[in-house]
Amino acid sequence: MKPPPLRIHRPTTLEDTLDLLSEHSAAGKVLAGGQSLVPVLNMRLAAPSDLIDITAVSGLDELLVTGDDGQTEIIVGARATHRRVERSAEIAAANPLLGEALRFVAHPAVRNRGTTVGSIAHADPNGEMPMILALTGGRVDVRSTRGERSLEADELNVGPLETCLEADELITRAVFPGLPAGARAGFDELARRSGDYGLAGVGMIVDVDDDTVTGLRCGFISVTDVPEILNLDALVSGTGLNDAPEAADAVVDAVRNFIDPGGDIHASADYRRHLTGVLASRLFRRLCRGENPRKRAGGTRRPATDTKRGRA
Ligand SMILES: Cc1cc2nc3c(=O)[nH]c(=O)nc-3n(C[C@H](O)[C@H](O)[C@H](O)COP(=O)(O)OP(=O)(O)OC[C@H]3O[C@@H](n4cnc5c(N)ncnc54)[C@H](O)[C@@H]3O)c2cc1C
Repeated sequence: MKPPPLRIHRPTTLEDTLDLLSEHSAAGKVLAGGQSLVPVLNMRLAAPSDLIDITAVSGLDELLVTGDDGQTEIIVGARATHRRVERSAEIAAANPLLGEALRFVAHPAVRNRGTTVGSIAHADPNGEMPMILALTGGRVDVRSTRGERSLEADELNVGPLETCLEADELITRAVFPGLPAGARAGFDELARRSGDYGLAGVGMIVDVDDDTVTGLRCGFISVTDVPEILNLDALVSGTGLNDAPEAADAVVDAVRNFIDPGGDIHASADYRRHLTGVLASRLFRRLCRGENPRKRAGGTRRPATDTKRGRA
């Protein structure tokens, strides 16, 4: 199928973009990379009369790291593609979590066109970047002809594929805090095929001070309706880095109790719950060992049970 006839506007300034969004707020939609919206249109799950294509709007392609050591912010403009974010050495230095998660977003061809802000606006609970925004404590900056506002991730996401954005509002940029000093962060997921949405995925930030864990926050994909962050500071605080394998068991229990997965033709709810615990255990132990991420392979290179240590 193809979409019903519609008009495409291609503004070049932010002011014109906001005017068009205001004019067509009843049945208009922002078009960024089109990697989620175009399939939705083709399947006729949405039928806007007007698309406001932002790919030529000046000022929306910023990609930079601001601030100094310990308090940096990563600014990702609405036109910045996943691939540009993934490949930025400055962003990797400020917070490796973004690049690590982006390697799991679809295929390079999709990442070459799809934008990180578009992904956040799309609010897919299977998507990596809405969760990473929440896990890092990030925000989006939003504009309309009525003014501007900033929204934290938990304000923005109100349900699966649903945000609190008004129809005339444009996210101009996403802002991700840099990783605090001493923190270690990582992401892992399992998909049936490389490039598919993950059956489950876990992002993690471990705070470390002098060989001791002082904090732990986890975010999940595909097992909660909106990005929800599990704070396990009290559970792991005081754990020595060498004692991580023992502490991982308690982390796994807490994670499996926290999430609320559903089942579908790809995986049952029970399997997703089990898998999320396995991923959390591996990630926690890997971050405590200070190791680099495993290379992304088709799905995962190991089965979803950790038979070697008999854990999780
Ligand atoms: C084969 C395939 C596999 C994929 N796999 C994954 C995956 O594993 N993980 C994953 O996270 N994603 C995946 N995606 C989706 C991909 O990440 C998209 O790029 C992303 O979801 C949307 O970005 P976009 O720039 O293409 O947005 P578009 O498709 O243009 O827009 C998506 C939605 O966001 C709105 N929007 C876009 N930009 C703004 C803005 N600045 N302000 C307000 N609203 C805005 C649009 O109106 C639309 O409703 C996949 C896509 C494909 C085609």
